[in-house]
Amino acid sequence: MLLNVLTCAHSLLKESLQEGDIAIDATCGNGHDTLFLSQAVGNSGKVYGFDIQAQAIQKTNEKLQENDCHNVSLIQDSHEKISTYMKEVILGGAIFNLGYLPQSDKSIITKAPSTITAIQAILEKLKPNGRLILVIYYGHPGGEEEKEAILAYTSQLDQKEYQVLRYQFINQQNQAPFLIAIEKKKRS
Ligand code: SAH
Repeated sequence: MLLNVLTCAHSLLKESLQEGDIAIDATCGNGHDTLFLSQAVGNSGKVYGFDIQAQAIQKTNEKLQENDCHNVSLIQDSHEKISTYMKEVILGGAIFNLGYLPQSDKSIITKAPSTITAIQAILEKLKPNGRLILVIYYGHPGGEEEKEAILAYTSQLDQKEYQVLRYQFINQQNQAPFLIAIEKKKRS
């Protein structure tokens, strides 16, 4: 069976992450991806999780405790400030889950300007062959605008430096989420 978008996201990250890597969950939400990254980089690795909402940080923290994960720093701040939290760092990979926190305030959403600032900051720090994954939800108010801005930004990335993949089921109803994967090329 074809992988669904969320499984595909994890599979693409798993392939490029190694034990000991540093990884970022740019939108912790309910902590699903943070937990995945924590387990993928192992005890010798490190994960930084960002979310602007206390509720998301709390839920993520609970999930990590339940699973005995101790290699994560959770930061309640916008992902656009990633560079102020980490300077000389080489990232193994990163993931964004865009939109709003399920079962929460639907007006608190990720927005193109801050999302793109964060993407740029992460790409600069990504290891060769490292991957940044965006899971793009766009069915909510404001979602279409962010989706269009991200597609415009990611489709003009220099093909000498990055490969950009879109993975999407094109016959699904209800604006199902799709995925953009950006892989940094090895310098020749
Ligand atoms: N739509 C997904 C979940 C997205 S959760 C699903 O249905 O599964 C998106 C998370 O991003 C929310 O918890 C929200 O608080 C967070 N967020 C919004 N803007 C942010 C920002 N600038 N920096 C970090 N996190 C942000």
